Amino acid sequence: MSVLEELHKSSIRVSDISAQYWCERQMELNYIHGPSITKEIKKGSRIHEELEGETNVPIVLQPKSYADSLYKSLYTSHQAIATLKEKGVTREVQVYGSIGGYKVVGKIDQLQSENGETAILEDKTRGDDRPPSDAQVLTHRVQVIIYKKLLDDVTSGDYNSKNFNMAYRTASLRMTDEFVRQLDANQIDKSLQDVGTIAGLFFEDMRTLNKISNTLYVRYLNQYTRKEIKLERLAYDRNEAQGIITHMLKFWNGERKSLPVPENEKWKCNFCAFFGKECKVWWQQKVL
Ligand code: SF4
Repeated sequence: MSVLEELHKSSIRVSDISAQYWCERQMELNYIHGPSITKEIKKGSRIHEELEGETNVPIVLQPKSYADSLYKSLYTSHQAIATLKEKGVTREVQVYGSIGGYKVVGKIDQLQSENGETAILEDKTRGDDRPPSDAQVLTHRVQVIIYKKLLDDVTSGDYNSKNFNMAYRTASLRMTDEFVRQLDANQIDKSLQDVGTIAGLFFEDMRTLNKISNTLYVRYLNQYTRKEIKLERLAYDRNEAQGIITHMLKFWNGERKSLPVPENEKWKCNFCAFFGKECKVWWQQKVL
C-alpha cells in the first residue's frame, strides 16, 4: 500500500508539503488521528473569506458530490482569473499539478499583476503583532515556492487540461441534478456544465497569465485587527525548489519514515497535540 493510500488520500496538498517542513511526523499524525481545528484557524479562515469577498464576485454553489466540488473549484477559479485580468488582483485560485507522479493541489490566496508579471501572495494570520519565527517563515516559504513551481508548469503547458482530465478521470464524472439546478440558477451556460469542459477553460485561462514573477510574497496579518504585521519578499530559486521536491518525495515514495523534529527544534513539541501521546520521540527528555 502506498503512503497516500495509508493516509486515505488521493492527492498531496501544497499545505502538506509546507507542513513537512514544520514537523513531518505531525503532518502524518494529523491524517491518521484527525487535525484539531483551533479557534485561531477558524478566525484565520474567516479573514480569508472576507478578503475574497472584497475582490471576487461571490458565487453561491453548494456541491453535493465529489464531481460537484471539483466543478465548483474549477468554475470559481476560472471566474477569479477573469477578476485578475479586469482588476489586476484576485483571491483564492486553485492550482493543480503533478510532482513525482502524484497529484498535487493547492489554493493560492492572491494573484496580482505587477510590472507586467503575475505575482503570488500568501496570507498568514497571527494572534498578535509579533513577527513570525524563522521556523514559521520557512514553512510559508516552501508553500509559495511550490505554488510558483506548479503555476510555471501550468503556464508553460507542461501540465495542461489533458493531464488534469486523465488524473481526475473527468470523463466519468457526473454532477448531481441538484447541483446542475444551481448552475442553471446562476445562469451558467449549459455548454459549460461539465467538469472536463470547465477544466479546459480554466487551463486555457492559466496559459494566458503573464509570466509568474520570481518575487514571492508572504503577508502576515493580525487576525483580530487585520493590521499588516510584515510582508516577506522572497526570491524564487529553481535549485531550492528542486531540493524541496527531492526531500518531500522521499516520504511520499516510502523511502523513509516520517521525520520527527530534530533535537534543536524539540521546542515545537510543546505546541503539538500529539506530544507524549501518539508521539513520544522527545517526551522522555521533557520528563527528565
Ligand atoms: S511531538 Fe514533536 S516530534 Fe512528535 S509529532 Fe509533535 S512536533 Fe513532531
